[in-house]
Amino acid sequence: MRILMILLLATAAPALAEPTLLKPARVFDGETMHAVWQVLVDGDRIVAAGSDVTAPAGAKVVDLPGATLLPGLIEGHTHLFLHPYNETKWDDQVLHEPLALRTARATVAARKTLMAGFTTARDLGTEGAGYADVGLKAAIDQGIVPGPRLIVVTRAIVATGAYGPKGFEPGVAVPQGAEEAGGEGVAAAARRQIAAGADEIKLYADYHWGPGEPSRPTFSQAELTGAIGAAHDAGRRVAVHASTPEGMRRAVIAGADTIEHGSEGDAAVFKLMRERGTVLCPTLAAGDAIARYRGWNGAEPAPPGVKGDRDAFRLARAAGVAICMGGDVGVFSHGDNAREMALLVANGMTPIEVLRAATTVNARAFGLSDRGRIAPGLLADLVVVTGDPGKDIAAVRQVTMVMKGGVVQ
Ligand SMILES: [Zn+2]
Repeated sequence: MRILMILLLATAAPALAEPTLLKPARVFDGETMHAVWQVLVDGDRIVAAGSDVTAPAGAKVVDLPGATLLPGLIEGHTHLFLHPYNETKWDDQVLHEPLALRTARATVAARKTLMAGFTTARDLGTEGAGYADVGLKAAIDQGIVPGPRLIVVTRAIVATGAYGPKGFEPGVAVPQGAEEAGGEGVAAAARRQIAAGADEIKLYADYHWGPGEPSRPTFSQAELTGAIGAAHDAGRRVAVHASTPEGMRRAVIAGADTIEHGSEGDAAVFKLMRERGTVLCPTLAAGDAIARYRGWNGAEPAPPGVKGDRDAFRLARAAGVAICMGGDVGVFSHGDNAREMALLVANGMTPIEVLRAATTVNARAFGLSDRGRIAPGLLADLVVVTGDPGKDIAAVRQVTMVMKGGVVQ
């Protein structure tokens, strides 16, 4: 990595000053793995890719023996303003951590995400940190701090009284992890968040009302339909947290673009998702992490929560639902995003299917037509890893170079 960095940094800033031909052992273009491919980058764009690309006069040629070149990976579900719950409980992060502390920590989370090969990330809620994601995104875009290209949702929207932190003297207003709304106010909250900078809207269609209770649907069909319609009218996609079949069903009927978790989903609701083209972000890594925080050592049989996630994931796959790659990072460490990729493989997807999920599928699900593949005209967001992640997904952790917009990070 050091040698490569020196080779490339010499001509970086702000973008590669001359065309650069990258010659890895293989290239994953977003769909399939190709042996003996080359990729030509000029400025912030990919200008050519294929088996017979030659370097134009004056181009720099970078040999990457043994390495795989991939599109910059896309994290589908992160919370840059959270850090692992075994460090600090979620309640304490929301209630006791100053906004400036959370923002400073989020800049580090953003850097770790980028250097793990994720050049784009969808942040699905600041969890009590207000609109700080809009400012963080601006800081990254202005080159003030390193990080992925962000899709932000700001505060997210929950049904009044449904979310947390909970368990305090009734009648005392306690700061919440998302914006509370009800009735026509749900659509109004969506519009307010869009005006404040939200690229997507995040809604919670179900939640548990008290500790130990199962999740139950929160928003009515009319509330979901109104809010999702308002977001779509504004050209914003909508991610919906939903675990119960009824919460999922209402969200899908209302036009949700992605369902987050879906951990109690049944065959009927996954069939509906398949018919409507709704994408599932199964977030297997979050359930796995939480079970381990509660003492699970990874041995089988897995605890009920983990088993439920796996069963639902398999039903979704059997129904043909498109799978997003998003781990709910923040519940576990930023930079460990590949944890979800390993679990997707462990539960039945092939490594190539998982690589597609983290590139083309996520790009399509989030409406990003300028990335997610290696093809002429697309952004030069690229990652180089040692080994072949098409055979062993663990290779995605062996990152030796990250390029964002033609600039080596
Ligand atoms: Zn989440």
